[in-house]
Amino acid sequence: MRIVLLGAPGSGKGTQAQRLMNEKNIPHISTGDMLRSAVKSGTALGIEAKKIMESGKLVSDDLMIGLIEERLLEEDTECGFILDGFPRTKKQAKDLQILLETIDKPLDSAVLMDVDLEILMKRLVGRRTCSTTGKLLNIYFSSKKELDDCINAGGELLRRKDDNEETIRNRLEVYQDQTEPLVSYYQVKKQLKKVNAEGAMDEVYQRLTDIL
Ligand code: AMP
Repeated sequence: MRIVLLGAPGSGKGTQAQRLMNEKNIPHISTGDMLRSAVKSGTALGIEAKKIMESGKLVSDDLMIGLIEERLLEEDTECGFILDGFPRTKKQAKDLQILLETIDKPLDSAVLMDVDLEILMKRLVGRRTCSTTGKLLNIYFSSKKELDDCINAGGELLRRKDDNEETIRNRLEVYQDQTEPLVSYYQVKKQLKKVNAEGAMDEVYQRLTDIL
């Protein structure tokens, strides 16, 4: 299975990709996670990406294409991959296609995780991670017990640096301007599949695996 997960920030791509990875045993390649890890370790890429990420804008296509090319050449992608957060621009999509053709691993499909804008805002504004367990939580959607469990275990509810209102607005605008056009790009190529990504995580996962 070689797929791209498309969707706005907060559409649940990362969560669903993680589960697909565990059940299908193929790597989940998230460019956002790769960049966050570069920022954390203070590499040259991390230093360059940090400010851009905090503003909600996009890191340059050239840097991203280089990063993904290196990753896709690793051995664990032999049996497939799930791309999450890449491509994000038409240039990235076109370069990805060329790269995948060159290495003879063409894409099976691009799956759009479809969520209403109002729900997206709540998912992003409310998103937290428990500092002790790493569990993803949401102050609007998680149960009181789940939130209390984190606090009672001595944890804190951490917010991603780019999950503040201003950056969220920027990220959604950037998505609409630069990434949404990829929906028609893959539609024209007859590679697009659409999943209703609203509702409980298990329901969405079921819809996703049905469509794949
Ligand atoms: P994400 O975790 O996918 O929401 O990504 C977090 C941030 O990393 C984005 O807001 C961008 O600044 C940057 N980023 C991740 N993937 C890409 C990409 N394919 N192209 C450009 N910037 C990216």
